[in-house]
Amino acid sequence: MMHEKQSRIWHPFTQHALQGAMTKVVRGEGAYLYTADDRRIIDAIASWWVVTHGHCHPHIVSAIQKQAEQLNQIIFAGHTHEPAEESAALLLKLAPRGLDYVFFSDSGSTSVEVALKMALGYWHNIGEPRSRIVVMQHSYHGDTVGTMSVGARGVFNAAYEPLLFDVTSVPFPERGREQATLDALEAACRNDNPAAFIVEPLILGAGGMLMYPAWVLREMKRICEASNVLFIADEVMTGWGRTGTLFASEQADVSPDIACYSKGLTGGSLPLAVTLCRADIFDAHYSKDRARTFFHSSSYTANPIACAAAKANLDLWQEPEVRKRIASVAAMQEEGIESFRADARFNNVRRVGTITALDLAVPDGGYLADIGPKLQAFFRDRNLLLRPLGNTIYVMPPYCVTAADLNEIYVGISDAADALVSGKSAGIS
Ligand code: PLP
Repeated sequence: MMHEKQSRIWHPFTQHALQGAMTKVVRGEGAYLYTADDRRIIDAIASWWVVTHGHCHPHIVSAIQKQAEQLNQIIFAGHTHEPAEESAALLLKLAPRGLDYVFFSDSGSTSVEVALKMALGYWHNIGEPRSRIVVMQHSYHGDTVGTMSVGARGVFNAAYEPLLFDVTSVPFPERGREQATLDALEAACRNDNPAAFIVEPLILGAGGMLMYPAWVLREMKRICEASNVLFIADEVMTGWGRTGTLFASEQADVSPDIACYSKGLTGGSLPLAVTLCRADIFDAHYSKDRARTFFHSSSYTANPIACAAAKANLDLWQEPEVRKRIASVAAMQEEGIESFRADARFNNVRRVGTITALDLAVPDGGYLADIGPKLQAFFRDRNLLLRPLGNTIYVMPPYCVTAADLNEIYVGISDAADALVSGKSAGIS
């Protein structure tokens, strides 16, 4: 129902009938957001996992300003520009070895769509058509039709189910049950003649911050390699230091055949994504025959301002200071969750790199359970930007977060458990 004074903006992943007033943010600096009503909020989820070095990092802001005055947009078919060339060259220098080409797009979802199209295009063009994709249970790869197809099925995509294509799913490698995942992947590779296997390395984000060890990732890559199945690493969330290394694949010494990066690619300043691939995937499309072209584009492919922001972010990654900072955030995060490990109010307290997660011990903790919005409201009142996935509370801060900020976040989490589960505090509904 429409009320005269209400905004006509339809927000993402928002049930407007239940949502209170939107928080109006007017400024961001470092790990903080400042609201129109003069509150300072700690951004404990890096604004949907994108902000790495901090909001409005001066080096990135300055690169954006300079580029905006020089060249703000150019069709990327038949043209190129310095920010794209420089950022692509730096990316290839920093990415796992074996990745030789860079395709630009605009979001994590499009980078995955591109990866899937590259994989099918490769098999099609070498005369061995394959179309099946193997996926991991609980995965999330985006909200476009292709990425929903390779992601977990559920309430998020039930309405669109008729549009989604069939995939083969292998179980998430639960601790102690890793072999079942590897066996299922081996069987899928043997029996289904798949084009590719797509996976989020080391941690499944939207699926509930589910973590698995590097050796499983390494084994999954080995199985794909042995079966000649393309291995797609969706590092849209795990990239840019989140798991403690620049890319999560590094920890398993894995070189994906195709890799997707976005979110922190511009330090969280502008939308941009890339899909990197092996030379032979590019080569399969390289031909005097126009029918073998890689048929994908978007109007703003490799927008120069976004590429300049990516280049500035990549400059920062050349400085040893960033990796030191990440190691220190990882250590502070470990300290932050330490006391929760033996805390009966929480289950499955976990960390990989700079990301921590813990599940509030409640009987009904699914994504649609009431506990999620209740927690969110509690944290909002505390000026903490946290957005639990059901009963899973996670902390994924920008790397400029301080020990004092993290302390405030974890005190908030503990108080939320008291108020919402143990009912220790009054006034919370
Ligand atoms: N892949 C993964 C692993 C993600 O976590 C996300 C977003 O959270 C996406 C893809 C989609 O990215 P975007 O929201 O930029 O389209």
